[in-house]
Amino acid sequence: MRALVISDIHANVIALRAVLEAAGKVDAVWCLGDLVGYGPDPNECVDIIKNLPNLICLLGNHDAAVLGQIRLDAFNREARESIEWMQAKVSPENQQFLKMLPEKHVIGPVTLVHGSPRNPVWEYILDVHTAADNFPFFGTKICLVGHTHLPVVYIHSTDKGTVNWALLPIGEKYMITDRVILNPGSVGQPRDHDARAAFAIIDTNRMTWMPQRVAYDIIEVQNRIKSSGLPTRHATRLGDGM
Ligand code: ZN
Repeated sequence: MRALVISDIHANVIALRAVLEAAGKVDAVWCLGDLVGYGPDPNECVDIIKNLPNLICLLGNHDAAVLGQIRLDAFNREARESIEWMQAKVSPENQQFLKMLPEKHVIGPVTLVHGSPRNPVWEYILDVHTAADNFPFFGTKICLVGHTHLPVVYIHSTDKGTVNWALLPIGEKYMITDRVILNPGSVGQPRDHDARAAFAIIDTNRMTWMPQRVAYDIIEVQNRIKSSGLPTRHATRLGDGM
């Protein structure tokens, strides 16, 4: 099966449309959460995501916060302002959709979470030590995570018992041999100094992972953020990819 893996769309529908078009035909879409927060078009994003065929979609921390499931003081001021804006804006039907999202899903050789297998909604895997601590918390060969907005692979070498990380070349297929934690990066708010929308294609038959990027109309999104009354920092950071 070939699945499109996306995460952290963050209400950026223009980036989401670009990713779906660039991905082309796939057998399934696996979305690792944070559909809302930061961007100007939360309902448009949820409407597109919830109608995708063969969808698996997980709950992210911003999704949970918009639903009132996480205290707002867990976020910095600008993230908090965007969550309050979202709470007023996300339609009751779309809130209902977010409410039904699971925190973890296992399909074949793959575990899917937003943050980490140990703490699915909240923990950031940003270094090899945190990654190493998390390998015992999933039983499959592969774990897919988002949340950090940084595309990366953490590799657990079976013979040596060590964990290493790597940044994978865009557009090249990576062969999954050892147990791995894979992050596709963020569709709607990349933070790795590459402003293009990030996504990945996983092939669970051939056991490959291909990270990809696609350019989209950032200026249009920035204008929409500014005219919507959201914090302008959410607009400027899109241009910097951080
Ligand atoms: Zn996020």
